[in-house]
Amino acid sequence: MSDASTPPALAPWLARQLGRLVEHSGHALLLQGPSGLGQYPLALALAQAWLCHQPITSGGVRRGCGTCAGCHGIAVRTHPDLRVLMPESLMLTLDWPLDESAQKDIDDKKRKPSREIRVDAARDLITFTQRTASGDRGKVVLIYPADRMNGVTANTLLKTLEEPSGDTRFILATEAQHQLLPTIRSRCVAHPMEGPSPEEGVSWLVAHGLPEPLASVLLKAAGGRPEDAKSMAERGWTDARWAAVPKALRAGTVEPLQELGGAELIDVLQKVCHDQLAVQVGGAPRFFAAQSLVSGTSLQALSNWSQALQRSARTADHPFQAGLMLEALVGQARHALSTRGA
Ligand SMILES: [Zn+2]
Repeated sequence: MSDASTPPALAPWLARQLGRLVEHSGHALLLQGPSGLGQYPLALALAQAWLCHQPITSGGVRRGCGTCAGCHGIAVRTHPDLRVLMPESLMLTLDWPLDESAQKDIDDKKRKPSREIRVDAARDLITFTQRTASGDRGKVVLIYPADRMNGVTANTLLKTLEEPSGDTRFILATEAQHQLLPTIRSRCVAHPMEGPSPEEGVSWLVAHGLPEPLASVLLKAAGGRPEDAKSMAERGWTDARWAAVPKALRAGTVEPLQELGGAELIDVLQKVCHDQLAVQVGGAPRFFAAQSLVSGTSLQALSNWSQALQRSARTADHPFQAGLMLEALVGQARHALSTRGA
């Protein structure tokens, strides 16, 4: 892991996007897309490029120099012209300081760190946008994940987005844009996140300590999203365990799927089902290597399974008895995968 004060070099697919975004002249950007593509590091690099006193151009991309007072202020989380709005739990994970009274409440165990962006942040935001920037680079507000604002915070932001003070720019980033208020979305210029090439994704994972072939297998398992692949490795996925899933399901074995939460379990099953269907109709698998899949399946049985999984996905976070749910879902998978095709 890198030290908090020395952010790792920006991944190449993020640097490409930074090159375009840094020239953007609007006052509110929304970085949106599925998880695992790097919304947060891109948002932070953009804030740094905007607030840097002497931006450098590297590979044709204007970015923060990493050494001026502005860049240093961001690295040590004290830049007076950058305001970060995040759930407290995430601020703690990403080494952002909480305000004194919030930190004291948490230290005194009066409450737990919030998992949404608190109303206090809205009040704080108004004060921040109204005061004069301390430097000559304007001010930046970074909100991540923007979908974790509660109604009051979002509506407060709305007013500020409608009537922006001239020198404040907003970067909102989300992995669930459908959960944002439409009124927030409509006031931002949306930037759909772009993913890496498979080679870039694998290099990034190797640089973050995953050996091959684990990096390649999990990148594919995560649908090409490197951060999600890294997090799978941290949760104990190995290349052998991932490759074993389809055949274990046909045998009715629960072992590779034990200890998964409801949502993750259904996600894995949907990936198996997707790839089996893809192969059945002559396409290429997306999440598994072809040799990991089972052959001789029935299109009708797979199609029924796919529909059953969609129904289960709607209730995946419901507190079922985990063991019963796993058994039922594996039974269903076994039936779908062992029904022979015509
Ligand atoms: Zn700088």
